[in-house]
Amino acid sequence: MRKVVMKFGGTSVADAAAITQTISIVRRAVESDAAPVVVVSAMSKVTDRLLAMADAASSGRTDVVRDGLDELSRRHGDAALRLVGASAAPVARDIERELTELGAVLQAIDVLRHADSRALDRVAASGELLNSRLVAAALRAHGFEAAFVDARSVLMTDATYGQAAPLADATKEAASEFVLPLLQSGRIPVIGGFVGRAPDGATTTLGRGGSDYSAALIGTAIDASEIQIWTDVDGMLTADPRIVEEPRVVRQLSFGEASELAYFGAKVLHPSTILPAVAHNIPVRILNSRRPEAEGTLITSSPADDGRPVTAIACKRGVTVVDVTSTRMLMAYGFLRRVFETFEHYRTPVDVVTTSEVSVSVTVDDRRRVPEIVNALREFADVSVEEEMAILCVVGENLRRRSDTASRVIGALATFPLRMVSQAASRRNLTMVLADSAAPDAMKHLHDELFETVAIR
Ligand code: ADP
Ligand code: ASP
Ligand code: MG
Repeated sequence: MRKVVMKFGGTSVADAAAITQTISIVRRAVESDAAPVVVVSAMSKVTDRLLAMADAASSGRTDVVRDGLDELSRRHGDAALRLVGASAAPVARDIERELTELGAVLQAIDVLRHADSRALDRVAASGELLNSRLVAAALRAHGFEAAFVDARSVLMTDATYGQAAPLADATKEAASEFVLPLLQSGRIPVIGGFVGRAPDGATTTLGRGGSDYSAALIGTAIDASEIQIWTDVDGMLTADPRIVEEPRVVRQLSFGEASELAYFGAKVLHPSTILPAVAHNIPVRILNSRRPEAEGTLITSSPADDGRPVTAIACKRGVTVVDVTSTRMLMAYGFLRRVFETFEHYRTPVDVVTTSEVSVSVTVDDRRRVPEIVNALREFADVSVEEEMAILCVVGENLRRRSDTASRVIGALATFPLRMVSQAASRRNLTMVLADSAAPDAMKHLHDELFETVAIR
């Protein structure tokens, strides 16, 4: 049996028309003898809306909450009618039951005038829970033996609400109990992405964009042959299409390249997606559900080398640079340890690091605890902070083989003051930090240099 996880993102399951298109993609997979497990996101924009409703509830704006519930009911109810027709009553009841529970959580938030991370996760999870019920019913109405599987019976996590870490062994065990038997009896399991279950049974989420991660986790738990990420672009592109007008599709990527690109801002993949796939060497494919015939991007451990100097560029915006300087500590042991222990103490990951003899510069994405970190660092060093910065990251396995690429990259950015430059030990990426306001232009320049002129070099 060729088990394939097919994950459909928000735009691929946004309404009845999109879900109909998704069903035809599943049909093609079944006709080619695949045994699919379907993982779905919430309808597009629903998660944002749910979080806004929780925020409104925490300040007693009941009208916003009521409008939100009405809209969710209408959106899912309309789609159910269109997709399931005359026999929509059972799924309509499931949708209403789900919305009633959501309404109760929102009311509790209203009463308490506070939404903690546990309550927020329960609210945010509703989008995927609603949509997985709907898509399962729609598949059944189109003649498939599809079964709704509650993500909370499969995806086991710790209790880090808002960013739960999966528990691989427990998830594998649950998948053997609740997913594999369905596949073995020829049925299609339909599971909401993004959502998991804490050890005490509470609902968790894997963090924004986490449905890709769910797909990869479920893929490894059932030992799938392939994990497919169906989205609204033709694959991994050479740059962010919201910045660069005509980026190219990257046909093949290594796991390492995909991880770096996702981590440094290529939104098409959640940054953790690749890790489970690497551990089990399962290929990941990114495909366009609006153009299912397009080839997409294939991510594997050893892609064919097409000789390209670099693979793609990514950009992470709105980061903060922290400079730590200490002449007293010049050449002293333990200085770096103290610096990094401070970040660890405040549970704040650092992304890019550069050092000179007397100073260290780091970037952080999550600036919530920067004031405390700065106070702690000031006990032994001078500290300055610069906000509104961006990381521009050039990724490619061939960077280590082509020594001229780095000079082309830096040359293309000659008119942009670079705050930090770093090449990691993997030599798979070259990372620059510059002012956030300059990032879009810098990315366009770099893309022109590396991809538009590549043919004549
Ligand atoms: P989904 O809802 O299907 O998960 P996302 O919005 O999370 O989709 O991710 C797809 C989007 O990622 C694209 O529409 C595109 O704007 C954005 N994106 C950013 N960088 C890249 C890149 N390098 N390649 C492809 N898409 C990218
Ligand atoms: N619906 C969730 C979000 O918007 C998860 C996802 O779509 O991947 O973040
Ligand atoms: Mg996504």
